[in-house]
Parts: sequence; C-alpha cells; structure tokens
Amino acid sequence: MAAKMLASHFEVTVLEEGKAFKPFSLPLEQLAKFRKTGLYFDERLIQLLLPNMRIDRAKEMIMVYGRGLGGTTTLATGNAVRADEGLKKIGVNLDEEFDELFQELPITTDHQSRWSKITKQTFQVMQEMGLDPQPMPKLLHTKECRMCGHCSIGCPTRAKWDTRELLEGLHVQTGCKVVKIDVDGHKATRVHVRKGMRQFTMEADYIIVAAGGYGTPDILRNSGIDCQPTLFVDPVLCVAAPMEGAHQEHQLLMPFVSRRERYIISPYMDWLSFFFNKQWYKPMSGIASLMIKLADTEQGDVHGGHMLKTLTETDHQYLKHGVDDCREILLRMGAKEEEIFLGTLNAGHPGGMLPLTAAEAETLHSPLLPDNVYVADATILPQALGLPPMLTIMALAKRIAKLITKMEEKI
Ligand SMILES: Cc1cc2nc3c(=O)[nH]c(=O)nc-3n(C[C@H](O)[C@H](O)[C@H](O)COP(=O)(O)OP(=O)(O)OC[C@H]3O[C@@H](n4cnc5c(N)ncnc54)[C@H](O)[C@@H]3O)c2cc1C
Ligand code: SF4
Repeated sequence: MAAKMLASHFEVTVLEEGKAFKPFSLPLEQLAKFRKTGLYFDERLIQLLLPNMRIDRAKEMIMVYGRGLGGTTTLATGNAVRADEGLKKIGVNLDEEFDELFQELPITTDHQSRWSKITKQTFQVMQEMGLDPQPMPKLLHTKECRMCGHCSIGCPTRAKWDTRELLEGLHVQTGCKVVKIDVDGHKATRVHVRKGMRQFTMEADYIIVAAGGYGTPDILRNSGIDCQPTLFVDPVLCVAAPMEGAHQEHQLLMPFVSRRERYIISPYMDWLSFFFNKQWYKPMSGIASLMIKLADTEQGDVHGGHMLKTLTETDHQYLKHGVDDCREILLRMGAKEEEIFLGTLNAGHPGGMLPLTAAEAETLHSPLLPDNVYVADATILPQALGLPPMLTIMALAKRIAKLITKMEEKI
C-alpha cells in the first residue's frame, strides 16, 4: 500500500524476497488419501506443495507466513476488519485512511446468501447462545467466488482480493532478499540485497521496510537498529467434531465472527491440521470446525527467521475459555462430547517488535530509525489485535506514505 501511494510522487522499487504466487492446485481429496501412510509428518513439508507458504516451528505452536508477491495476504482468508483499538489508545487517529480503504477496496458482507447449511446452522446456534455472530467483512469479488474453501491455500480464481492488486504496474524485483541497511548518522544510505548467489546494494531517498512482523525485525537488527522482545502472534486453535455431511470444506473460510474478550470465534476449515494432525484423519466432508483467535501477551522474539515464543498463563486461560465456548456450540449442533478434538496451535499475525508509542502518534516514526527509514507493517502495532490485521496495516501504510509525501513537498 505504501509503495502504491508513493509511486505517484516518487520512483519506487519494491524488493521482494519471494517469487510470484501460485495457489495450491493439487486435488485435496486425492492427497487426503495419503494421510495414513505417514507421508505428512511435518507441517514444514507444505512448502514442497505450496512454495509460497512457510512454516516455522516453535515449542508450543507453528508460525504460518507467506513469502512471495502479495506476502501473507495471498494466504489470508480475506477478512477486512478495522482493528485500531491499540493505536487509538496512543493517539493515532486513522479515520481518514480507513474511510479511503472502504472506498477503494472490494470490501463486502454480501456473501450471506451463499452460506452453506452448516454455516447457517452454526450462525443460528451462536445467536441462540447470545454470542452475537456478525457476517465477516471480506475483501472479495463476490461474483467470482466459487465457495471452494481454499482461501488460506491460495484462491484459484482471484475472487479474494490480495495485495498483488496494489503491485500491478509498479516496479517490483522478485527473488531479492533485503539483508540490511547501511546507516550514516541519522540517515540510511544503502540497502544490501541478496539475489541468489549475487549481492548488490541500492540507494534510495526513503526506505520503507515492510517485510512483515516476521521479516522486518531481522532486517532492522542486521542494520544496528534494535527491536524489542514484544512479539505477538494472535495464536489460532481450532476445535472440531465429526459431523456427517457438514461439507465445511466447500465454504468461504471465516464467513462470520463472534467477538469475545481477547478472542474471536469463527468457522474455519483448518487445512494444516487436516493434513498434519492425526486427530484430523477423518473424512473431509464430515468435520465441523471452529477457530479461536487470541490476542496474546506481547512477549516473544524473532531471531534469524525463527520464533521464540511461549504463551503465558493468561493466554492459556483465555484459550481455554474459547475452547469451552466452541465445545458448547458443537454440542448444541449435535456433536458428541467424547468426539470433539483440537487442531494444531498455530499463528499467522506476527508483529509488535518496534511498537509505536504516544510520542510517535503524529510521525509514526520511531526515534530508533534513521530519519529516512519507515516501517510500514505489523512490527509497529502497539498491541496484539486478536483480529485480522491487514486493513489496519494498510491504513498505517497509507498515513506513512502521506507523511513522506508531505515532507518532500516542503523541501
Ligand atoms: C492463514 C492465514 C490467514 C490470514 N487471514 C487473514 C485475514 O483474513 N485478514 C487479515 O487481515 N489478515 C489475515 N492474516 C494475516 C495477514 O495475512 C498478515 O497480517 C498480513 O499479510 C501482514 O502484512 P505484512 O505486509 O506486515 O506482511 P506480509 O504480508 O507477510 O508481507 C511481507 C512481505 O515481505 C517479504 N519479505 C520478508 N522478508 C524479506 C526480506 N528480507 N527481503 C525482501 N522481502 C522480504 C515477504 O516475502 C512478504 O512478501 C492471515 C494470515 C494467515 C497466515
Ligand atoms: S472460497 Fe471464494 S475466495 Fe475463497 S478461495 Fe474459493 S473462490 Fe477464492
């Protein structure tokens, strides 16, 4: 988003470590038949089948992220939620940017008429329980959506909007890993890039680091700019039960959401657990699954592309509340208590390691950064969201692009 905005005033080059994104295209039903052979013994193998998806394993959970054009948004489920509570607390008002995003992007809740039987039933049960489920705003070209349920492994039709649409027409160099930035006094001078075996440097007036909450901290630290061990990841845990004929696999993922204290609940077919977690070795059409997404304690780190993170006692308590809620929903839908099973604890919203403070509410620029370097991703979010972050990151990126343009106009 920052690149797109800045391209109307500057000559912009986007350096992207990964390659062009290719959605998962093999037949899932056929692949599922191999589960019992033990072929899928480690989630990291997913990279062989879906090269743009990466998995990192920490003690308690796995981290899921994207490497390639469009970043992790190509693996996202397209949820478009304003999640700026923490930013508001420190005095950042992004009303204008959110208004623009709602005007510019295909955000819609107009998918309810296409919900399947199981989705409607789950929605009704949650309403009856007073959980106030609400249709999820989606970044979606609704007419092109086949309701195939593949949103988190790559949309085959591009019905789901992702940030590749912003990159169209921009100068993008793929396969270019940014290693570090040279800093001279208060100014960054050059970016060091690795492309295959080749290394080179590039110069720029402004450098926007947007390698994601998982990539940016390493670049900053390699450049002598310290980050804090305040990583949040929004852990996800699915609670599921056998339910004959549920066919949740043929449905938009996360069609609606219930907001609870520190977590959300939403229907979600968990493909990683389905392939890599033995408890999920059941027929694809016969699983009803609900996701809990938690706002975790901001405590953890990333070093050399690896996550150092354990959940706190409080995090575990909230997860347990979520599991209890999901159990109750599934029981009311007809599941048997003894057949309910859990998914693999995973996370896909890393951020928070250079959190903005109230002193930076106007500039969105940490004093630890050189004057001409900005971070425009989840790294600067001041607190865990427990909610989809894409829209909020894009609102921040918009504001940063406007600030840079304004500064340049003054010079
Ligand atoms: C399965 C899944 C579903 C999700 N669903 C949703 C959803 O529905 N809604 C939502 O709001 N959020 C969702 N998210 C989260 C969302 O995708 C991320 O929060 C968002 O993409 C983060 O944006 P970003 O720009 O900070 O990082 P990313 O999207 O991860 O982009 C970082 C980019 O930088 C590149 N990069 C990294 N390191 C380097 C380097 N050293 N040099 C050059 N390039 C580099 C990467 O290849 C990548 O392209 C989901 C996440 C997952 C895993
Ligand atoms: S359900 Fe719709 S948005 Fe999701 S992957 Fe399928 S076609 Fe794309």
